[in-house]
Amino acid sequence: MSIDRALTDALKSQLRGTIVLPGDGGYDDARSVWNGMIDKKPGAIVRCSGVADIVQGIAFAREHRLPLAVRGGGHNIAGLGVCNDGLLLDLAAMRGVWVDPATKRAHAQAGCLLADVDRETQLHGLAAVLGFVSATGIAGLTLGGGFGYLTPRFGWTCDTVESMNVVTADGRLVRASERENPDLFWGLRGGGGNFGVVTSIEYRLFPVGPEIIGGAVAWRAEDAPAVMEMHRKFMASAPPECACVLVMRPAPPAPWLPREIHGKPIVVVFVCDTGPLADAEKRVAKVKAFGKPVGDILQRRPYSVQQTLLDAANPKGRRYYWKSEYLPAIGDDMGAKFREHAARISSPHSAMVLFPLGGALNALPAAHSPMGNRDARWVLNIPASWERAEDDAAQIEWARSAWQELKAFSTGGTYVNFLTEEEGDERVRAAYGANYARLAGIKKTWDPDNLFSNTKSFAPASAGR
Ligand SMILES: Cc1cc2nc3c(=O)[nH]c(=O)nc-3n(C[C@H](O)[C@H](O)[C@H](O)COP(=O)(O)OP(=O)(O)OC[C@H]3O[C@@H](n4cnc5c(N)ncnc54)[C@H](O)[C@@H]3O)c2cc1C
Repeated sequence: MSIDRALTDALKSQLRGTIVLPGDGGYDDARSVWNGMIDKKPGAIVRCSGVADIVQGIAFAREHRLPLAVRGGGHNIAGLGVCNDGLLLDLAAMRGVWVDPATKRAHAQAGCLLADVDRETQLHGLAAVLGFVSATGIAGLTLGGGFGYLTPRFGWTCDTVESMNVVTADGRLVRASERENPDLFWGLRGGGGNFGVVTSIEYRLFPVGPEIIGGAVAWRAEDAPAVMEMHRKFMASAPPECACVLVMRPAPPAPWLPREIHGKPIVVVFVCDTGPLADAEKRVAKVKAFGKPVGDILQRRPYSVQQTLLDAANPKGRRYYWKSEYLPAIGDDMGAKFREHAARISSPHSAMVLFPLGGALNALPAAHSPMGNRDARWVLNIPASWERAEDDAAQIEWARSAWQELKAFSTGGTYVNFLTEEEGDERVRAAYGANYARLAGIKKTWDPDNLFSNTKSFAPASAGR
């Protein structure tokens, strides 16, 4: 449904940024998001050049009772960074980053991708706690919690936020921090895009790199039982500086893997050790020396390069469907089921992944931020990824059936940022546990009419537009 031309002309005159309408050249590119399964057609896309454009966009959507979506990096698996018919505020032009090395703080505009922040902070040997794929948006990642290689050391990304600037549903510009609007600040640190449009985020930074010990070691899938046992024991004794992600998947045609293994099932351990280089080198020698690897690129490298190692496996536009759970531990039964379903992968791009969480976040109380899940030590992710629409049913079925069996090992919690389009209220409640009720209360205060509905929501089912 297009929006009346006279209305969009009026909006255009209020903007510094541009507006893209259905039928305009570039409209299809402007509405596309990372997950190729999502095909939504907004009535207008505002490419915001600054906070004032966001304020105008919110006022316009509110006045004309239009669905409103906000896009940071467009990476959300459920396609929450775009909507049908309404107004899309695209923040991709707002990518400024200001670093203060003296206070170890960075202010980043909400359209930044992870790579933008890493690039600027690494100039000072500092890093924010961000995720594993550099084209992900900082806003969606941080508002939904956020975790990456640095999480075992420093916690959820949202636990390391000092403040955020926000435009509220009634068009006010407010700052949220421990001192200013503390209830809003609490809600924003995990509660998603429910409460307003965030225009910038202030992160605490930590000394990391610029060189670290990182990379990956791969073995044939036949060796997976032994590799998983080694990985479990290694991580149990490793300090939080050393984070290891375990992946099973068909070998991609990557130059570091021999040609004869391409397409064959492998198990890979991605390592990022941000401890002192000599200690880290000594530590990871155990992983490098284990069994008979078919590939090994675990070495001294820039932290900024480490942050891009998983980019090639996650290109924009492919078809994706994920299932996910938090795990308290990796036991033998879980490991056996994990391998069983990895062996059933039929797409060259799908994988089974175990991300480490355990460490700093476990030490905080459940209500520290909405993210809760302080008992989670691993994220199990089952990312199905394929190319042709005719394979949708089979690929989705693979991920669902693996999840059906593996969820028996869950803490009962799940990561809100990994929820797919069809996962509704029950799964959102699972993501937040006891923190859900407080989030619903903050939603009522800050967005009583549910203007910000294009998110995993706490509004009652009857609310909305
Ligand atoms: C390939 C890939 C790798 C990933 N890796 C990680 C990882 O390592 N760690 C991790 O924690 N997560 C990871 N994620 C999940 C990721 O955190 C979520 O998909 C997140 O929603 C992406 O943020 P975005 O800004 O790119 O998304 P978008 O699709 O742009 O937005 C997602 C949601 O955030 C809201 N939003 C965006 N910007 C704003 C804003 N400025 N103000 C208010 N609301 C806003 C949107 O309305 C929407 O509801 C990954 C996702 C992908 C696809």
